[in-house]
Amino acid sequence: MSLPFLYDSANQHDAESMKKAIANKLMYSIGKDPRVAQPKDWMDATFLAVRDQMVERWMETTRAQYSQDVKRVYYLSMEFLIGRALSNALLALDMEDVVRAALDEMGVDYDELVGLEPDAALGNGGLGRLAACFLDSMATLGIPGMGYGIRYQFGMFKQRIIEGRQVEVPDTWLGSVNIVDFPRDEVCYRVRFGGRLELEGKKVRWLDSQNDVLAVAHDIVIPGYATKSTNTLRLWTARSTREINLKKFNQGDYFSAVEEKNLSENVSRVLYPDDSTYVGKELRLRQEYFFVAASLQDIIHRYLSTHDNLDRLEDKVAIHLNDTHPVLAIPELMRILLDDYNYEWDEAWAMTSKVFSYTNHTLMSEALETWPVDMIGRLLPRHLKIIFDINEAFLKEVALVVPNDTDFLRRVSLIEEHGDRKVRMAYLAVVGSHKINGVSALHSDLMVESIFADFARLYPERFTNVTNGVTPRRWLALANPSLSKLIDGAIGQTWRANLTELAELKGSADFPQFVEAFREAKLENKKRLANYVARTLGGVINPHALFDVQVKRIHEYKRQLLNVLHVITRYNQILANPDKNWQPRVVIFAGKAASAYHMAKLVIQLINDVGIKINNDHRIGDKLKVVFLPNYSVSLAEIIIPAADLSEQISTAGTEASGTGNMKFALNGALTIGTLDGANVEMQDAVGADNMFIFGNTTEEVGELRANGYNPRAIYEGNKDLRDTLNMLASGYFSPTEPERYRVIFDVLVNWGDHYQLLADFESYVATQAKVDALYAKPEEWAKRAIYNVAGMGHFSSDRTIKEYADRIWYTKPVKL
Ligand SMILES: *Cc1c(COP(=O)(O)O)cnc(C)c1O
Repeated sequence: MSLPFLYDSANQHDAESMKKAIANKLMYSIGKDPRVAQPKDWMDATFLAVRDQMVERWMETTRAQYSQDVKRVYYLSMEFLIGRALSNALLALDMEDVVRAALDEMGVDYDELVGLEPDAALGNGGLGRLAACFLDSMATLGIPGMGYGIRYQFGMFKQRIIEGRQVEVPDTWLGSVNIVDFPRDEVCYRVRFGGRLELEGKKVRWLDSQNDVLAVAHDIVIPGYATKSTNTLRLWTARSTREINLKKFNQGDYFSAVEEKNLSENVSRVLYPDDSTYVGKELRLRQEYFFVAASLQDIIHRYLSTHDNLDRLEDKVAIHLNDTHPVLAIPELMRILLDDYNYEWDEAWAMTSKVFSYTNHTLMSEALETWPVDMIGRLLPRHLKIIFDINEAFLKEVALVVPNDTDFLRRVSLIEEHGDRKVRMAYLAVVGSHKINGVSALHSDLMVESIFADFARLYPERFTNVTNGVTPRRWLALANPSLSKLIDGAIGQTWRANLTELAELKGSADFPQFVEAFREAKLENKKRLANYVARTLGGVINPHALFDVQVKRIHEYKRQLLNVLHVITRYNQILANPDKNWQPRVVIFAGKAASAYHMAKLVIQLINDVGIKINNDHRIGDKLKVVFLPNYSVSLAEIIIPAADLSEQISTAGTEASGTGNMKFALNGALTIGTLDGANVEMQDAVGADNMFIFGNTTEEVGELRANGYNPRAIYEGNKDLRDTLNMLASGYFSPTEPERYRVIFDVLVNWGDHYQLLADFESYVATQAKVDALYAKPEEWAKRAIYNVAGMGHFSSDRTIKEYADRIWYTKPVKL
C-alpha cells in the first residue's frame, strides 16, 4: 500500500537500502552476525533502522518550532501507555511494505518480528492510553506538543493467572539493548526535597534540602501520521546526586555504601499499579514532584534560550495537567517566578493561572487526591508555604464575592481542616488553571453539579467539556487490517487522518456484497483471536459464536460482576432449557486489578472459577464459554477489540468519566451493550439508538435510589433468576474446595448496600442480553448495524479532541513545515 498524499520522496527507501540499513544495525549497533542473530536481535536492528528515518523529520520539526517561535503545549502526565512503537512508526512513515520486503529477503518474518517488541506499559489504563493517543494526534496535526512523564524502570506489572488468581510479576520492558529512547545525559536537573525555609522580609529562601535527586531526560520520538511533523515524549529517570559513599565503601560496608544511591533512584523505579484511588505513599508524592520539577526547569530553560525574560511566558507556553498528579507544577512555577526570578506575587500569579489547564478524570470522592499537610511540609516546605499563600489570597477574593458565608469558605478552601489537615489537589488545580475540562458531556455536566459546584459559581467561564477520542491509526488501521482494507476499497484511504469520512460507509450497508465482506473481515479477526486463545490458554473457541467482550481495568464501578451474574444466569437457563435454540456465545474478559484491591482480585478469581465450571460442563457444549485472557495491555487490546461482536460498557451510570474502550470497540464494528454513562451517551447520538443496546438506570435514577433508600435485598427476594445465581455464589457452587470463597460478594450485593447498584440493573441487563441474541440470529441485520457503528464513529477521533484543546484551551496552532 502506498499513499499518494504522503510526503516527498526524500525518505522513500527501497527494500534494497532498507536491507542494508537493517543489516548494518544488526552488526554495528547490536553486535550480531546475521547468521546467528536471534529474532529479538532482528527486531532491535529493524527498530533502530526505522528510527533513523524519523530522526531527520524530528530535527526539522524542532528547528521549525524554534524559528517560528510557536506556542508550545506541554502535556504533563504520570502515565503514558504507548504500546509498541515499530509498527506504529512504519504506518506513520508508510514504510511497512518496504520493511516487510527487506526482511523477507533476509528470511525474517515481519509479523513475527513485530510481535516481539515489548509494550512500553508506563500506565495503568484509560488515563495513560489517552495520553498516548493525544501524543499521536498532536504530532499528526503538527501541534507543537511535548509529553513529560516518568521513565519507570518497572512499568505496569505483568499479570499471570495461577490457579485462577492474579499474580503480579515485574515487567522488565527495558531490554538489554536500549532501543526505546535517546538518553540525554546532558539534560539533567537537580530536584530538591526537604530542608527548611528562611524568611528575609518578603523574600523566602529554601535551604538545606536533603536527599536531592538528579532527573535525567530520555526522549522517545513520536512520529505524526503522513506528515513530517514529529514530536517528543520526554521521560525522566532518577539518578543519585552521589554515586556511592566511598568512605563506607573503603571500610568494607559495601551494602550501605550503595544504599543511599538506591534510595534516591527509587523515585523512577515503579509505576503505582493503581489508577483510581489515593495512594498514601510518600514515594508517590516524591514521584509527582520529581517529574514536575524537572519538566518545569526544562520548559523554562527552553523558553529562555530564545527569550530575554519570562514576562510573556503565557504567550508561548501552555502546560496541561492530566488529572491532579502533576498539580504541584502550579506552586512550582510560582516558586520559580517568585524566588528565582523575583516577580511580585500578583504578577507571578497572573502568569501562572494563564499557563495552566487541567483535565478532571473522576468524580469518585475516594479517587480525589489529597496529601497530608505534614507530609508536604516535610518534603516540600517551600511549596506548602506557597499553597497556603495561594489559599489565603483565594479565600480573600472569595469573601468579597460570597460575603458572610464561612461555610462556603470552609468548603472551597484548598486545605481540608477536619481531622488531619490535607491539601485538596483538585481544588488547587481549579484555582490555578484558566480552563478545567471534563472528558465527556455527561461527566462535564456532573462535574460542575457535584465536586466543583462551588467553584463553578465562582468561575463559570473556566469549566468546559472536551470529549475524549482515540487515534484511528492504532485502533483501526494497525489493529484491524482486514476491516481497514475493506474501508479503503469503499471510501479511499484518507479516513486515517480524517475520521469523519467514515460517515460515507452508511450507504454501503445497503449493498449485500459489502455486508458480506464486512462479516468476513470480522470473522477473520475472530479467528485470529481464537488462535491466540488456543496458543495461550489451550482452549478451543468457536469463531462463529457471538464474542461478548469486556476488557478494561477490573473495578467494582465497571461492574464486571454484573456481567458474571448474567453468565451464571444464562448457564442456569441453558440447563433448564437445553433444547431451546441457544445462540452460542463466548464471554471474554481481560483486565488487571490493582494489587491491593481485594474485591477486584476476587472478581478475577470468580471469572476463572465460573469458566472452569461452565467450560467443562458437557451439557453446555458450545452454547456458552467463558474466557479470561491474562495480562491485558495495548497489544492484547489490538487483538481482542477487532474480534468483538458485543462490547460491554456497563458501569453504574454517573461513574465512568468517559471511557475510551467503548470508542475502540464501536470503531471496529462491535455493537455496544451499555448504560447511559460517560461517552456512551454521545456515542448513542452518533450511531443511533437503534444500533446500541442501552439498559439500566440513568444517572438521575441512580442518584434517586441512593438518596431515597435502595433495598437490594428486596430485589434479590423478588427475582428468582437472580436469587438462584447469587445463592450459587454464596453456597460455593463455583468454589467447591472453599465454599465460603464468594460469600463476601453475596454480602456486598445483598446485605451491605450494593453500592454500585448491580441488582437494580440486573433485570434490565438480562432482558437486553436476550435482545442481543435475537438480533445476532439475523446476521445480515447485525452486520448492518455494526457498519452503522463504524460509520458513526468519526467524531471520536483523538484528532478532533486535540483540535478542541488547541482551539479552546491551549490557543496553539500547528507548526508550518
Ligand atoms: C483503551 C484502553 C483502556 C481503557 O479502557 P476503558 O474501557 O475505557 O476503561 C485500558 N487499557 C488499555 C490497554 C486500553 O487500550
